[in-house]
Amino acid sequence: KDWYFGAGMSKRIWNELYKVIDSSDVVIHVLDARDPLGTRCIHVEKYLQKEAPHKHLIYVLNKVDLIPTWATSRWVKILSRERPTIAFHASINNSFGKGSLIQLLRQYSKLNSDKKQISVGFIGYPNTGKSSIINTLRKKKVCTVAPIPGETKVWQYITLMRRIYLIDCPGIVQSSSGDTETDVVLKGSIRTGNLQTPEDYIDEIINKRVKKEYIARTYNIDNWSDHIDFLTMLAKSTGKLNKGGEPNLHVCSIMVINDFLRGKLPHFVEPPSNNIEEIPLTNTNQF
Ligand code: GDP
Repeated sequence: KDWYFGAGMSKRIWNELYKVIDSSDVVIHVLDARDPLGTRCIHVEKYLQKEAPHKHLIYVLNKVDLIPTWATSRWVKILSRERPTIAFHASINNSFGKGSLIQLLRQYSKLNSDKKQISVGFIGYPNTGKSSIINTLRKKKVCTVAPIPGETKVWQYITLMRRIYLIDCPGIVQSSSGDTETDVVLKGSIRTGNLQTPEDYIDEIINKRVKKEYIARTYNIDNWSDHIDFLTMLAKSTGKLNKGGEPNLHVCSIMVINDFLRGKLPHFVEPPSNNIEEIPLTNTNQF
């Protein structure tokens, strides 16, 4: 199984991911609605197809609250050509998509009526919302923790309903080998606090990925010449200054990256608009 490591995954991460896939009858691939193809891992899909074709793979398009409805419906249409796709907003008080997801899982449970129970595992890039989805589902009436008999209690299995268990430990997919360092950071795969030079990613955010009007509105800043100029104005307006009164560009950069990742700065990759049937879905992202 060495080919995964060459593809950019560490052995430890792959082993964890493999354990989740191996224990699941239904694998839920969680995608970020703002960049579904960028957070889709073809490599794992290929692996499943080849090594475990009997497992069911479905997409959950999460964070749909952060994109317009028309974009959600278009992505669902596109992705559904490959796999069943559920649009989702993970939230304890205000979730969306829970009913549809549960209904789909019920169908799989019926399909596997010879089994005592089915296990559902979650996989995806860091930050796509795997844990939040589990928590949203967990709020459903039954939430007992049930270790599967005969298994050592490495993870917890949550009873979603009779015969459907969720694996309470998502499998993490690591970055694609085609990703630039900026892609990795802006997908939220690295803790922002660990970034040595967060300033390096600001140009991409404020001048390329987010519309200027949103940046201007969020920070009340206009007409910056470059990202350093922007950060300097931001530091001054928010009072983020070093002891000597120098603008603290580092802290401001981390703030902007966090705002980008957490949805405060609206942005999304537009779904292809013309003839959906002709859009190739494969070979978009290899890790
Ligand atoms: P994981 O790393 O895939 O387990 O992701 P988390 O569940 O930790 O979520 C990452 C971040 O995304 C957290 O700040 C969540 O609050 C946020 N998040 C998760 N799901 C949603 C969603 O549906 N909508 C919005 N707006 N934020 C979400």
